[in-house]
Amino acid sequence: MKNQVILGQAPNFPEFEEAVLEFWQTDNTFVKSVTSKPADKTYIFYDGPPFATGLPHYGHLLASTTKDVVPRYWTMKGYRVERVWGWDCHGLPIENMIEQKLEIKGGKKGIEAFGIDKFNDACRREVLQLDSEWEKIISRLGRWVDFKNNYKTMDTTFMESVWWGFKQLYEKDYVYEGRKVILYCPRCSTPLSNFEIAMDNSYKDVTEPATTYKYKVVDQPDTYLLAWSTTPWNKIVTPALAVNPDLSYVKVKQEDEYYLLAESRLSHLKDLPYEVVETLTGKDLENITFELHFDFYAADRNPQEKVGVVVADEFVTAEEGTGIVTLAVYGEDDYRVMKNNGIQLVEHVDEEGCLKAEVAGWAGMSILKVNPLVDAELKTRNLIYDQQPHAHSVATCYRCGTRLYYAPLPAWFIDVAKLRPKLISHNESVNWFPQHLKHGRFKKGLENAPDWNISRSRYWGTPMPIWRNPSDASQFRIVDSLAELKKWAVQTAAAEKLTDIHREFIDEIEVWVDDARTIKGTRIPEVFDCWVESGSMPFAASHYPFENREVFEARYPAQFVSEYIAQTRAWFYTMHVMSVALFGKPSFENVLTTGTILAADGNKMSKSKKNYPDPMTIINQFGVDSLRLYLMSSAVMKGENLNFSEKDVSDIRRNVFVIWWNVLSFYHQFADTSVGITKPDFETTHVMDTWLMSRLQSLITEVTKSMDNYDVVRASRTLMAFVDEVSTWYLRLSRERIKAADNREVSQVFGYALYTLAQLFAPFAPFFSEAIHQQLVDNKTSIHLSDWPIADTKYLHPEVETKMTEVRRAVEKIHSLRKEAGLKVRQPLTKATVTSPVAAPLANLLAVMALEVNVKVVAWQKGEELNVELDTALTSELKTEGEARELMRNIQVMRKKAGLQAEDQVTVTAPAIPQGWQAEIETKTKSKITIGPELSIVQ
Ligand SMILES: [Zn+2]
Repeated sequence: MKNQVILGQAPNFPEFEEAVLEFWQTDNTFVKSVTSKPADKTYIFYDGPPFATGLPHYGHLLASTTKDVVPRYWTMKGYRVERVWGWDCHGLPIENMIEQKLEIKGGKKGIEAFGIDKFNDACRREVLQLDSEWEKIISRLGRWVDFKNNYKTMDTTFMESVWWGFKQLYEKDYVYEGRKVILYCPRCSTPLSNFEIAMDNSYKDVTEPATTYKYKVVDQPDTYLLAWSTTPWNKIVTPALAVNPDLSYVKVKQEDEYYLLAESRLSHLKDLPYEVVETLTGKDLENITFELHFDFYAADRNPQEKVGVVVADEFVTAEEGTGIVTLAVYGEDDYRVMKNNGIQLVEHVDEEGCLKAEVAGWAGMSILKVNPLVDAELKTRNLIYDQQPHAHSVATCYRCGTRLYYAPLPAWFIDVAKLRPKLISHNESVNWFPQHLKHGRFKKGLENAPDWNISRSRYWGTPMPIWRNPSDASQFRIVDSLAELKKWAVQTAAAEKLTDIHREFIDEIEVWVDDARTIKGTRIPEVFDCWVESGSMPFAASHYPFENREVFEARYPAQFVSEYIAQTRAWFYTMHVMSVALFGKPSFENVLTTGTILAADGNKMSKSKKNYPDPMTIINQFGVDSLRLYLMSSAVMKGENLNFSEKDVSDIRRNVFVIWWNVLSFYHQFADTSVGITKPDFETTHVMDTWLMSRLQSLITEVTKSMDNYDVVRASRTLMAFVDEVSTWYLRLSRERIKAADNREVSQVFGYALYTLAQLFAPFAPFFSEAIHQQLVDNKTSIHLSDWPIADTKYLHPEVETKMTEVRRAVEKIHSLRKEAGLKVRQPLTKATVTSPVAAPLANLLAVMALEVNVKVVAWQKGEELNVELDTALTSELKTEGEARELMRNIQVMRKKAGLQAEDQVTVTAPAIPQGWQAEIETKTKSKITIGPELSIVQ
């Protein structure tokens, strides 16, 4: 350590942190902290891998700090905590980046024209561009993690484990192929799962026309069903309308026409006179027929398929609109109801969100473009009753921002509905912090989760290992390993050479789908949703079951995971699904969920708005320990949002680290450091020392308990409060004893307390704690290799702690009484009388108190509540003493200003010398006083 304590001067924290980093590197401290612990006493931690498409932001720094604090704690508790870095490599974000970078136009068609091999290669090269920058920043943060042996979701080993997991799911009958109405991005030409949308709240508020359409009832002159909608494009194929069978409907006459709508929605009518001519139930409306607005798909219709008919289903509500809804295949409920009622199912939109060739006149147009045209056409045909602007929020693609729509698509699913009871029951054994997430957000998510669509029509991902008979879709083979692929490959030579299993390497390979090797299957083009990979991380990162089988099984599940709150619907969820399905247990025992860091103004941190300070600037200004402690002691560690405040980081630096540094400087300057840092082996004689030793044991107990409960906020706040207590109470009231000649006992207590405090702080503020260790103990070892302190009940004196707390309260009251009376603390007073429910403290504690509040006597009597009386009468002796104390202080201030050392002897002039005090003042201030015009140092 090149930095030594410079007395009275706050250190340059960032500078000495760099020195500590250097020490750790040359000392190999992280590796030592892992390997020195027994291999059979592990604490397993799973790191949620980040994407390396940008540099780390505060969210990453928060996550990394949490993932450092908790493992450091368990390491000090004697566990072997291995920490390996991971990289999330696949998925849409990186694909979109490459599309933009290489200016590939035309979405999927463009990529395929460019070449999947070249496209994936570009992704592969892009994905770890920033890894060394990440390593630099994460290391500077003080996070100990093994970057060298990192895993990547694009590693063949990782992908092979994902294959294995998928086949297991299939064999356990948790996977099915289906057709579902799911949110779809026409630009990326891919479906998105609900949790991808929910995760970062990718919704946008829009105002657009909402139209009330008229559907002419067959055989009832001038009578129309009214249906309200915001999606004109699917009115092109609306073969049915739906009502709620239990709702009450009315037929009204307005001007010359008759309209049908829900009774409770009469307010939806235009502001013109009307008269109710008939009341009916939804059931009555079922099966009545109406004239289609368009019929582009008449030629495709089977004789048994129905169109132009009203159906009834409970999903219809009367919350908005008319209580009558249009049905098209582009809605989850619509699709189900139409299927159940034998209605013709028509898809008129292609995979890029454009109308298909059958839609004469509008073919090739995007659905958003066609919206006004559909309404214009219907208006000329007098089939629009009303049109009003309507504000609502719509889902957008979380990567490209394109508005999503619901589309019925062939897709592979994990059968979450079937797994649901197990998912819910296995959540019961997981310890959540904050606790409310367990039965709140996470459990509710499990209760409502739809089946998980795991297939993506994309390129840069783990290919789904399914080879299908081109002429019989129901016949396919799933392989679960590279070995199995080689075994069943038609092109054996090509398969033998495989070292990578991305699409460009295996799409051309065919696989025998039957065991007799007569049918050549081709691979389905889809890749896995990259969340399947994240969810498989616990086993895929160690290439299970192909390698590390015993180690993995012995160490599963993990003790700890931590991410921000949105991961309750994403990574925590996908790990839970995979784990419960594959291994019949949860994948983690404890989960610490953080909130979201926002900019100081409460908005999302945004690079373009520059509404937050650069993390490295903060680190270089205040030091990483201040940033870490700021984050760990904030509400963000309870899953709440945090508006980032630079000032609060600065306050932590000043109120914790500078104060602590000053305490340490005092120790170095005045304590007897020759006693070393050892636990006092004697019965303390002074009440302040007894109290400090006892408080320390209570502190150890409290911090340990909080950390065991993953309550990092409580632990860090408790520690911060203790720094203040040591400085403003213990040290202030013990200065004279520490400065005194016979100070061995107090030095030992003081030094031991300072070191123990540093140990308790070590997980949170690893740099400062290390500096203290190297200054107090030695500069060749690390505090992070020391054992977590254990409370020693031998030193516990609860009654001293209770009484001290009461004394401190009383002292505060006395100080405020003095203030009210305009009496400085240096003015001695005769007596203070304390009335308190707490029994009188020991005599020596009362004596300490009398010194602190500067009264000759403290009287303590029993009473209902704390009350303090102060005798403010001043005798001439007290006045003179007050003047003497004032003079002493002024001389000391002068000496300090003049830069004098404690032992320097000076001559001072003063206008007057309080009678009888000259000798004492001269001794205490190391000066010779003569009378002069004003207070000053002569020489
Ligand atoms: Zn998109």
